[in-house]
Amino acid sequence: MLKGKTAIVTGSTSGIGLGIAKALAAQGANILLNGFGEYESAKAEVAALGVKVAYHGADMSKPDEIAAMVQACEAELGPVDILVNNAGIQFVAPVEDFPVERWDAIIAINLSATFHGTRLVLPGMRHRNWGRILNVASTHGLVASAQKSAYVAAKHGVVGFTKAAALETATTGVTVNAICPGWVLTPLVQKQVEDRAKAQGVSVEEAKKTLLAEKQPSLQFTTPEELGALAVFLCSPAADNMRGTAINMDGGWLAQ
Ligand code: NAD
Repeated sequence: MLKGKTAIVTGSTSGIGLGIAKALAAQGANILLNGFGEYESAKAEVAALGVKVAYHGADMSKPDEIAAMVQACEAELGPVDILVNNAGIQFVAPVEDFPVERWDAIIAINLSATFHGTRLVLPGMRHRNWGRILNVASTHGLVASAQKSAYVAAKHGVVGFTKAAALETATTGVTVNAICPGWVLTPLVQKQVEDRAKAQGVSVEEAKKTLLAEKQPSLQFTTPEELGALAVFLCSPAADNMRGTAINMDGGWLAQ
């Protein structure tokens, strides 16, 4: 379905980004990977799906590096048809103790990078009258949790930005939507599980159970594969008129 298309997936050396990259590649899209993790194995996993794959190590907190990544993608793989703004970080602390430097980094990587990537790829997408921008927000783009002020602010910002960009492109072949996962067991969440196990003096397995029980009624983690399938749907013709949505895949978190 996506044969001949090119996708940039930011933060795709692990977790959700890698899951989405593999799902798009399985549909035939060529992929530019990005992120700070071990990229050779990620590249090999995507290449095994029979598409072209490239990697760029741009730091999503740096607008110049984001521009260099888009240019590199165009040079190596061709014009960007699909942009998945996925890179993200977390930090947990009460507002009054929140390190200013962590606040700035979360806003830059989780929110501003979405703006920069979008503004850079949009002219080409408009010109070709086809494009998909998928912003990986979170349930925390729609509701809050204590101790996550920067993350919640950034993800609510991503959902708002998604709506504004979708309105600006509403009469074109470019769609902009957000994906809002609940808990997904990736390196980002594994760290929170381990911190919780330490703080509560319980095993990692027990900490996983209590983490899910607090928020996610299904008591199951959402998987990168499920989110990949949702990304593929949003890139399909069936989603041509989905614009500015924030779709939660969260085991019932937001139904409560
Ligand atoms: P992850 O830690 O596995 O992946 C994050 C990716 O972003 C990695 O590739 C990392 O190297 C990259 N990254 C971090 N800082 C970067 C930077 N400055 N520049 C470029 N790349 C950078 O985490 P994940 O859980 O897969 O998270 C992916 C996205 O999904 C994030 O936006 C996160 O907020 C969101 N999300 C995750 C969950 C969850 O439960 N795991 C839930 C909702 C939303």
